[in-house]
Amino acid sequence: MAKKWVYLFDEAAEAESYAGSWDGVRGLLGGKGAGLADMTRAGVPVPPGFTITTEACNRFSAEGKFPEEMWNQAMAALREVEKRTGKKFGDLTNPLLVSCRSGAKFSMPGMMDTVLNLGLTDKTAEGMIALTGNPRFVYDSYRRLVEMFGTVVLGIADEAFEEPLKAYKDKKGYKLDTEMTAADWKGMAEAFKAVIEKEKGFDFPQEPLKQLELATEAVFKSWNGKRAVDYRRATNIPDDLGTAVNIVTMVFGNMGEDSGTGVAFTRNPSTGDKKMMGDYLLNAQGEDVVAGIRNADPIENLAQEMPAVYSQFMDITDKLEQHYKEMQDVEFTIERGKLWMLQTRNGKRTAKAAIKIAVDMANEDLITKEEAVLRVTPEQVDALLHPQFDEKAKKAAEKSGAFFAKGVNASPGAAVGQAYFDADTAEKMAKEKKQAVIMVRPFTKPDDVHGMIASKGVLTSEGGATSHAAVVARQFGIPCVVGASSITIDLEKRVMEVNGKTVEEGEWISVDGTTGEVFIGQIKTIEPKIEEQTELLTILNWADEICARDGMRKAPSTALRAGPEKWPTRGLQVWANADYPKDAQRARSYGAKGIGLCRTEHMFFETERLPIVQRMILAKSSEDRTEALNELLPYQRKDFDGLFEAMDGCPVIIRLIDPPLHEFMPDEEKLFEEVVTMRVKGETKGLQEKEELLTAIKSMHESNPMMGLRGVRLSIAMPEIVEMQVRAIFEAAADCTLRKIVVKPEVMIPLTGTVKELEWIQPRLERIATAVMEEKIVNFTYKFGTMIEIPRACVTAAEIAKLAEFFSFGTNDLTQMTFGYSRDDAERNFLVTYVEQKILPKNPFQTLDRDGVGKLMEWAIAEGRKTRPELEVGICGEHGGDPESIEWCHIIGNNYVSCSPFRVPIARLAAAHVALKYSGKAIAEDK
Ligand code: PEP
Ligand code: MG
Repeated sequence: MAKKWVYLFDEAAEAESYAGSWDGVRGLLGGKGAGLADMTRAGVPVPPGFTITTEACNRFSAEGKFPEEMWNQAMAALREVEKRTGKKFGDLTNPLLVSCRSGAKFSMPGMMDTVLNLGLTDKTAEGMIALTGNPRFVYDSYRRLVEMFGTVVLGIADEAFEEPLKAYKDKKGYKLDTEMTAADWKGMAEAFKAVIEKEKGFDFPQEPLKQLELATEAVFKSWNGKRAVDYRRATNIPDDLGTAVNIVTMVFGNMGEDSGTGVAFTRNPSTGDKKMMGDYLLNAQGEDVVAGIRNADPIENLAQEMPAVYSQFMDITDKLEQHYKEMQDVEFTIERGKLWMLQTRNGKRTAKAAIKIAVDMANEDLITKEEAVLRVTPEQVDALLHPQFDEKAKKAAEKSGAFFAKGVNASPGAAVGQAYFDADTAEKMAKEKKQAVIMVRPFTKPDDVHGMIASKGVLTSEGGATSHAAVVARQFGIPCVVGASSITIDLEKRVMEVNGKTVEEGEWISVDGTTGEVFIGQIKTIEPKIEEQTELLTILNWADEICARDGMRKAPSTALRAGPEKWPTRGLQVWANADYPKDAQRARSYGAKGIGLCRTEHMFFETERLPIVQRMILAKSSEDRTEALNELLPYQRKDFDGLFEAMDGCPVIIRLIDPPLHEFMPDEEKLFEEVVTMRVKGETKGLQEKEELLTAIKSMHESNPMMGLRGVRLSIAMPEIVEMQVRAIFEAAADCTLRKIVVKPEVMIPLTGTVKELEWIQPRLERIATAVMEEKIVNFTYKFGTMIEIPRACVTAAEIAKLAEFFSFGTNDLTQMTFGYSRDDAERNFLVTYVEQKILPKNPFQTLDRDGVGKLMEWAIAEGRKTRPELEVGICGEHGGDPESIEWCHIIGNNYVSCSPFRVPIARLAAAHVALKYSGKAIAEDK
């Protein structure tokens, strides 16, 4: 039997048995085709039609022609549609008209092509008039077909059609399209046909089947059009999916005042509120609403205008939401009082809405908590923690007269940037000049997406909450205000104006996508408060619950990892890297369960301490050094005290000094310059001290300081520093214990390469720990452990675990040392090229290199746990906040990941996602 390239909308079952699953059907028929088939199956009123598969598109892309039999099958399907509608394609008395619509597996709004009203010709138009008695509607439809055919199928620029229409309306003194009469539209159809003839040298095809064939071909080709390819790059949609083509019976929203068309979301896509949100227009065709060119009415008004249709619509959309268990984005048309559903798909939404909808749907028992957690992406959590305008600063801006305009709050968040009036300039200024950019347009089209993605915010003067600008901005989490209709934009003079106030191109503006307000100038932004974001907190608590469940992980059975009977059976915990008490407090409020890294040396850089640190470094004798260190001790004790207090009851890992000492000293070159200048000028005051300092710094010089005297090596060379640090840690811990704070200090030795280093240093430090506890007469548990940052430490982990009670992977250094790439220079010099040339899949300093660094980690954990089955393992390099790296940490048996406080919520969600992914049972469990 010949391959089936075409499915009627009522052949959902056939498509499913061929594709194997509903996901497979979505791949085969595209999201729109699958939705239409599914709606038909559910008894929803869908205009008859059929889908040509994505497989046909892929074959077309490869061979440049329709696959054999495809067109015959399409013709057979068309005859079926004719039967069902009682109309005939190309018939002169009762013509069937169809649309030809693209639709890939994943929705790519407006990125590919659609042609409406196919089947209209000079002759069938007459038939339609006889049939409908409505010449205005017919000629309006006809001119739309000619225009769309010209732009989409024949590639003629929009302006070629827009200009004659505008000129005609101006001549007639019309403001709106609705003022055009039947004769006007008839004339326009002729004018548009003349445009095609002039631009292409041939006539608009008068054979309906030719129109259909060329339109199908154009939709297939649009899969590889520039804007579709750009969109796929930005959204990681694979190139090999292809688009399906849906041939759908036309139903008309422009048949008079009892007809209309609209789009709606079953819940608010901006806030997530459980309230239908949509727009419709009477006597209009679909594109009018989506393009946002005419201002539409809110859906609630339909309840008054067509109560029966409205209640049927509410009923259907409610069923659709229950069926898909997702917020739906629907398109509908009312033709002479009859409702038709043209499309349903999962609606795009802002991060805020995504989280609210997930939580609400779980509370409504529509989905499980696990599904709710899985529906939120780490990027959405990130977006919610993005800045908002500082209320005070905003009020002050208002007072000073900086308010410019108000529009529809289409995508939340605060954006401050320089205004540019077209997508190319916006992109250029953002990419080349590194400016913060706000793209301003009357309305946006798919060709503008590159400019939007490069911008911090988007502002349009036209269109509503479902316009192109709004949908795209929400999807990419870009703050956006649309339909700010008081603004007049002069694209030629590059200026916009409201009541005499002007903003020139390049001027700063502030756009509040949460409220819809626009201001001139820059308004201060602030970080949002997580504790006020109830739904986000709920999702994150559910994520934690999932991770804390026993049985989420099993010890893997591979030879490498065999053995450790204490392998973690729960998901990952999330800890934070925090150096100061205020960071620790933030980490805790963001849900961190411990501090995975406190880089103690950061505290040495503070102004009052640095001179003491330098004196300590330059000390000629151990006594002098100890004296300086004794001065530092109270500072450090205070730092640690604050950390323990903030993390009451949680583990706190404090790393002993790590960087090479020259980092604490004045810059060698600058000092050298000063000395030379003084010598040349003959200045003597202070010269000797400077010369001595220069000699000392020179003596510290190392060719490759990151591989030199730092980490544990420095501790062995100068044990006094770490001895002071350990004393400060334990004194603080003891004081806190006496204040009834539960402390769990873990002392971390950095950069270990051989167990001998630990054997040398660790017992000395442990002696200090016990001494302090004895002095203070307190007792608490503590650990001594090490960072694993050197490949040799990974390889000899079984040995290292004899002393180390915990491992923490310092994957910044481990990546540096494993690849031999300098972490300070590689990104600047060659990593970008490596990623572009696909020598590396990703920047290994951002996402763990599983095959190399990751394998070393895996080995180290398995070996370490052979020696010490309960070995606690974490990661504290930058990778600890990266979802893909978090997944690897779960697989290889880390107990926790530690990342910057700001990334803790993202990591909590990512940890739950991976736990669910690998447990394989949790989702069904709660139902
Ligand atoms: C690391 O190397 O991954 C690490 C956390 O330490 P630092 O970045 O301070 O070297
Ligand atoms: Mg390091």
